[in-house]
Amino acid sequence: MYVYADHAATTPVHEAARKAMLHCLEEDYGNPSSLHSVGQRAREILDEARADVAACLNAEPSEITFTGGGSEADNQALLTGAVLGARKGKKHLITTAFEHHAVLHTMKALEKQGFTVTYLDVHADGVVRLEDVAAALTEDTALVSVMMVNNEIGTIQPIGEIAKLCQDKGVLFHTDAVQAVGHIPVDVKALGVDMLSLAAHKFHGPKGVGALYCRKGIRPEILIQGGAQERGRRGGTENMPGIVGMAAALKEAVLGLPAHMEKVTALRETLIAGLSKIPHSRLNGHRELRCPGTVNFCFEGIEGESLLLWLDAKGVAASSGSACTSGSLDPSHVLLALGLPHEIAHGSLRLSLGADNTEEEVEHILKVVPEVVAYLRGMSPVWEALETGKQKHLI
Ligand SMILES: *Cc1c(COP(=O)(O)O)cnc(C)c1O
Repeated sequence: MYVYADHAATTPVHEAARKAMLHCLEEDYGNPSSLHSVGQRAREILDEARADVAACLNAEPSEITFTGGGSEADNQALLTGAVLGARKGKKHLITTAFEHHAVLHTMKALEKQGFTVTYLDVHADGVVRLEDVAAALTEDTALVSVMMVNNEIGTIQPIGEIAKLCQDKGVLFHTDAVQAVGHIPVDVKALGVDMLSLAAHKFHGPKGVGALYCRKGIRPEILIQGGAQERGRRGGTENMPGIVGMAAALKEAVLGLPAHMEKVTALRETLIAGLSKIPHSRLNGHRELRCPGTVNFCFEGIEGESLLLWLDAKGVAASSGSACTSGSLDPSHVLLALGLPHEIAHGSLRLSLGADNTEEEVEHILKVVPEVVAYLRGMSPVWEALETGKQKHLI
């Protein structure tokens, strides 16, 4: 048995998305900017996809800009907030220390351009506190960006409350909702956010396509100069197969959301209960405020990379955190932001389930993980030092 438990990294493409994409590749292959009927048909398909994506988020079609993925949407949102702020002489930005690198690295780039950025600490439970955001706001603050669901530990942030606070203070608010859309309810109007990013491949759509929601009245800054596509907000012929695939996947995800959430949450609970029995282990992030599928554990005396390789060999695809940072030996910036010591942050395991996972698959994970942890601890000098009392247990 081989179990794919890395849905936070990417998801398999839904059949409805695949069919919609194939149709675009094989039949309606037109360029939506062409004036002839082939082009006009493509234009209709594009408009329909935009209306579908908007409806799934309770937005207006004109508030949706299609992008080349979640990272691009994040880049565009932060640039938009920064430029709009700078026009009013505001050059302070606020985010958290545990954002995705698409946000963190864009913030670093904006710092080089003269903006000041506050990186809020996250509490040990992986949840940002409203009062910390409130305390960081100044007269000079242009934009606050806080992710809706953290990609490594799965905790849900109080986005509606933060958006309300920002609105009251006249500060723009963006949320990276890449791990939320298609997994928990996301209603841009109910949340009151100004900007929101999403990526198709995190909800069973294709890779390389995403969207940025920008509330009416906020014009997104241009990242890609070119033609008049996306009403002049993003040049380049539209990625038609990607866009229709995203719209189809999102419709499926939103339609099946209650059932999906119930099923995946039940699987996750079984997983947490089973993994918690491993001695000197720790569930990272708030026990309840978490998205259905993602769990993140630390096992003392274990090195994350070897754990992953052994799990892969035993039939479990997992991650040590974000796909972008694995491959380096640095501990996860997310776990460090929660205040975990380096020794522990190194031994983390992220398992992220999807609606396609089964109870049998979770049982397989629960059989394999304790075996591999015990095996690796048996070979670990660190574990020996802990067990012989030469070093103190931290978990
Ligand atoms: C995956 C992810 C991104 C990046 O999306 P891409 O489409 O891969 O560029 C951004 N933010 C979060 C929280 C993510 O999980």
